[in-house]
Amino acid sequence: MESLKNKLIRFMVGRYGIDQLYYAGLFLALGLMMINMMVHSTILMILSNGLILLVVLRGFSRNINRRRIENEKFLKLWNPVKKEGRIFLRRIKEIRTHRYRKCPHCKKTLKLPIKRGKHMARCPECKTFFAVRVMM
Ligand SMILES: [Zn+2]
Repeated sequence: MESLKNKLIRFMVGRYGIDQLYYAGLFLALGLMMINMMVHSTILMILSNGLILLVVLRGFSRNINRRRIENEKFLKLWNPVKKEGRIFLRRIKEIRTHRYRKCPHCKKTLKLPIKRGKHMARCPECKTFFAVRVMM
């Protein structure tokens, strides 16, 4: 007798499977469900269940190339958001010791140790001085 695992493996041969868009869809559906626990809307329920169905069916798709392109498009939108989110979290984590400022000349974001009041900072990239004001 064939094990369930082997059956599943055989079923998934030539099918797309799981990617970042899959996880994003599931998280979105989960978020909609959590909101729906408070508002009890039929539309939200249909939307979240439909989204899960769509994401799972997408994973079973045999049109691998098209699914890959979809995922690339998604990542093109998502990666900058993810990067900004990571920078934001780092700023919060280092709020007691550092401040982040953008160099007005080369636009590079610099991590500066806290020095309260107005002072001059030197950009290590373009070597120009610019005024920095740290309020608190
Ligand atoms: Zn600079």
